[in-house]
Amino acid sequence: MNWATGILRALPRASAAGVSFWGPGVALRPWHAVPLSSPWTLTPVSKMATVKGELIKNFTLEKPVCHSKVSIIGAGSVGMACAVSILLKGLTDELALVDVSENKLKGEVMDLQHGSLFVKMPNIICSKDYRVTANSSLVIITAGARQEKGESRLNLVQRNVAIFKLMIPTVVQYSPHCKLIVVSNPVDVLTFMSWKLSALPKNRVIGSGCNLDTARFRFLMGQKLGIHSESCHGWVLGEHGDSSVPVWSGVNIAGVPLKKLNMAIGTNKDPEQWENVHKEVITSAYEIIKRKGYTSWAIGLSVADLTESILKNLRRAHPVSTLIKGLYGIDKEVFLSVPCILGENGISDLIKIKLTPEEEARLKKSAETLWEIQEKLKF
Ligand code: NAD
Repeated sequence: MNWATGILRALPRASAAGVSFWGPGVALRPWHAVPLSSPWTLTPVSKMATVKGELIKNFTLEKPVCHSKVSIIGAGSVGMACAVSILLKGLTDELALVDVSENKLKGEVMDLQHGSLFVKMPNIICSKDYRVTANSSLVIITAGARQEKGESRLNLVQRNVAIFKLMIPTVVQYSPHCKLIVVSNPVDVLTFMSWKLSALPKNRVIGSGCNLDTARFRFLMGQKLGIHSESCHGWVLGEHGDSSVPVWSGVNIAGVPLKKLNMAIGTNKDPEQWENVHKEVITSAYEIIKRKGYTSWAIGLSVADLTESILKNLRRAHPVSTLIKGLYGIDKEVFLSVPCILGENGISDLIKIKLTPEEEARLKKSAETLWEIQEKLKF
């Protein structure tokens, strides 16, 4: 399936508005395509005998049916890592990618498609035009300005506000029943903005939040103990980033709480300095960006894990960013990570995790930090 025919498949469902559509390389109107130039053109219609015509007898007219269409907005390092991770897990029957940078987008999609021999790839389509995303079950937002060296995630916010104001309403226009996963930073603030701009119910707007922070935490904990991260249980909650909260009271291996073995764990009185594990979670993103310019693989894999819970209705608990108002004494409309049950309706339930007074205070502090920023936003 090439890029152009991919657009055509998406088109019947997207063309309800009956408006002309122009995609890069191909001029498209509902149910019609006029090739312009480039290798991305359709096979010309001809009465001449063709290999395809001699080889294949059409048996039935196929109408596009998508049960688990995923769209990714932003085909940068993170968007492409999400795409590859989702494809390798075989989670979607149609993957649509959107980016403002048309050449890069086409290049990325061509490159992916050329790997289809090695992986059972679904239909992969792309365009600058959001119509290509029509009828998605899930839309993953990775578009936006990238975090610069040493730049805090919160500094990114203003640069991304303008992008989201145009992007989110358009996404929802074409996929009114979708769930949104917001990944772009600062993720908690941008998830709040996406909720406001989309007017979707709160359960369908999810921030990737501390899913990655928690994965990093469990990995580093595992490194310290020589145990695989899957068997190291612990949660990092609150703001994705500098003010995230490690819930030391719940950290355990095989049900053995580490706090019972070391009462000072996570505090500055701890002789083993376990708090460094969390400090490394915070600094590791900066460290990776300093070394390779961006982070991509872990966030891509973690988003694919969230995608799996949603598309397969697994009802697993993930530390993702959600509207937290009313919990832990927080009375502001902020999005922060708490353990959420993810399934086909997005977030169906929140787990009322027991926090120590100190942990609760840190969560409230995160909420205040975010609220101070949100208050200043004009959108
Ligand atoms: P990138 O610069 O490589 O990619 C961003 C892409 O967005 C670019 O290809 C750009 O052309 C595209 N884009 C910009 N404006 C657009 C628009 N209006 N519509 C469509 N596409 C548009 O950046 P990246 O490294 O992929 O990071 C993407 C975002 O993800 C950043 O905000 C980054 O901070 C964030 N991030 C979040 C986490 C997390 O845990 N939540 C982890 C890593 C990165």
